[in-house]
Amino acid sequence: MIPAIPSEVVTHMRSAERVVALTGAGVSAESGIPTFRQAQTGLWAQYDPIELATPQAFLRTPRLVWDWYTYRRQIIAAAEPNPAHYALVDLEQHYPTFTLVTQNIDGLHWRAGSRDMLELHGNIERTRCFECGTYAQGWDEEGELPPRCGHCGGLLRPDVVWFGEGLPERELHLAYTVTQQVQIFLSIGTSAVVQPAASLPLIAKRAGAYVIEINPEETSLSVVADCWLQGQAGVILPELVRQVFNLSENQEE
Ligand SMILES: [Zn+2]
Repeated sequence: MIPAIPSEVVTHMRSAERVVALTGAGVSAESGIPTFRQAQTGLWAQYDPIELATPQAFLRTPRLVWDWYTYRRQIIAAAEPNPAHYALVDLEQHYPTFTLVTQNIDGLHWRAGSRDMLELHGNIERTRCFECGTYAQGWDEEGELPPRCGHCGGLLRPDVVWFGEGLPERELHLAYTVTQQVQIFLSIGTSAVVQPAASLPLIAKRAGAYVIEINPEETSLSVVADCWLQGQAGVILPELVRQVFNLSENQEE
């Protein structure tokens, strides 16, 4: 079924030059990637999340934490970007200024081809030193685990935001900055409950942007957004791209 997209949405997207899209777990879920808690099956089910994803847990049981992320990396490696990821690449290539802000750590946006990205919760495919923060170019899964930093000998940790940690300041600052200057703000597959997902669309709206939400379920944003497109991102986004681009191509001819 082709979703009905109001002509008002297409009109706004055709005339915009500055666009921000925020993506959340729903976009990853459409690629079959489980959430943190959904991934806690089998032997992982016995652990409290704070035993697997806090700096304190890493200090206490670094190998357990490392193995948890290795396990999740394997799930992600077997997944593929979905049509929503590719539609966002099309949007990036179409608009003069387009920023993708994501809460997802799986790197699927990158694999799909998105480049202008702010990863607010880090990326599970990267590791950095727990002690000195140096990023590792690669690491050996065969030897001692977690592997050691080539710079200072500290333990390598996944470059993701753990419970109790702040979001990366640079990314957060840039996300707020671009949001204040945007004409279209898309909130896609996020429950719009946790920060900054809860505040970014509101900041955009106060700054005069047209706010579009794409989500199968109603959220606290749905009534605030200028338009809520109910459904899966992998269905709605490609259709949105098709309609917006077809019209803009006709205009150019
Ligand atoms: Zn180091």
